[in-house]
Amino acid sequence: MPLYTPQTTLPIMNNLEQFQTPTASFSLKRLPEIANDTLRAWDAADELLVNTVYSDYGDSLNKSDNQPLLIANDNFGALTLAFNEYPVVCWSDSFISHLATNENLQLNNIEKTEAITFVASSDAPKITESPYKLVIIKIPKTLSLLEDQLYKLKPFIDSDTKIIGAAMTKNIHNSTLALFEKIIGTTTTSKATKKARLVFAENNIKNSEDSIGKSPYPNLVTDEKIQISLFNHANVFAKDKLDVGTRFLIQNMDQCPTAEHIIDIGCGNGALGIMAKRYQPNTKISFVDESFNAIASAKESYNHAYPESPADASFHISNALEQFIDEDSNTPNTKGKAQLVLCNPPFHQVHSIGDQIAWEMFKQSRDALATGGEMWVVGNRHLGYHIKLGKVFGNCRTIATNPKFVILAATKLDKLNRARK
Ligand code: SAM
Repeated sequence: MPLYTPQTTLPIMNNLEQFQTPTASFSLKRLPEIANDTLRAWDAADELLVNTVYSDYGDSLNKSDNQPLLIANDNFGALTLAFNEYPVVCWSDSFISHLATNENLQLNNIEKTEAITFVASSDAPKITESPYKLVIIKIPKTLSLLEDQLYKLKPFIDSDTKIIGAAMTKNIHNSTLALFEKIIGTTTTSKATKKARLVFAENNIKNSEDSIGKSPYPNLVTDEKIQISLFNHANVFAKDKLDVGTRFLIQNMDQCPTAEHIIDIGCGNGALGIMAKRYQPNTKISFVDESFNAIASAKESYNHAYPESPADASFHISNALEQFIDEDSNTPNTKGKAQLVLCNPPFHQVHSIGDQIAWEMFKQSRDALATGGEMWVVGNRHLGYHIKLGKVFGNCRTIATNPKFVILAATKLDKLNRARK
């Protein structure tokens, strides 16, 4: 899935704080939108990066489509909007970041033209034959994503390419700089400004595998106890070892109701859906995630586990089930309502923590289920998912608990029964 346009679906709101650049000012919102959200859609590292590029690297900004500006890991579109007068390539692992960028372009009445290209970070950022002149990287929290991106970037830069990373100082470690040194070349940092810092890397290490090694992703991890092998691309949840909560749900999966169609929402590497098919070999599974690397991992892991049944699985990039539900009627093997949804909800989003995504997942799962269908959720006991499921479904029962985790199930009731609850 190299190039695509994220579809905008969410309402647009105004009265937002302004992101000031040397040439313009923009209203920027975060996704998901949260009532009374006090967090801004950009940080001091975005500001430092934009100001430095305009003041010191203006010559490297190019209006020719041949050499667009490469922007990696723009969280909500601040960087893309700041350079929207130039051809840009937005390269990220997060579909929600692409969605937010698109919505912020609309919010500021900037037409999304061919000059803005979205690329998933599960793909290489190959757009033209010419090397990039300027690459700006919002340094991600996960080192594995940076490592994989630097390896993927290497064939598309030359010794003239300017590479500038940026992050809040607390997110730049020796290990971060060591990756730039190892894969790109000589690396220096700027002084800190408002607790943000820049990283400058000169591309002076030869491109050959002998000198820089190669990306360790995807890695293949086998869990002997459960007897499952999973491919993990960079940035994927529990990429080195099966998560304890995931394992707990798998251990109780024999109690799941029989289902013709199962949705694994927030599928990560696909562990839950793949194991569900072991208990129910005739089921169809839809794997859904907002991370491109997660979907790539789930696809490879599923094909490894069930090479004989590729048609029983489908893979969907989606914000919760928003885009999945839209495309559902066009996907032959997911037609009709699901009877079971499996979920180990996320509680981190890029750099913030919250339960908004869990709420959305619960509500949209209820809508995607057939009457009588069930949603099974595993989570830390302290997260209180039973309250949320109870509110969304009108019922919730406990399937199993241990000192740390709980498995909950909620049933989709018909309208009459829901009204009575
Ligand atoms: N199911 C996998 C497992 O048990 O190993 C992964 C669980 S992990 C706790 C949560 C997953 O939700 C991550 O893969 C993350 O990328 C995904 N996610 C986060 N926000 C999402 C959203 N808005 N829509 C869809 N998936 C999302």
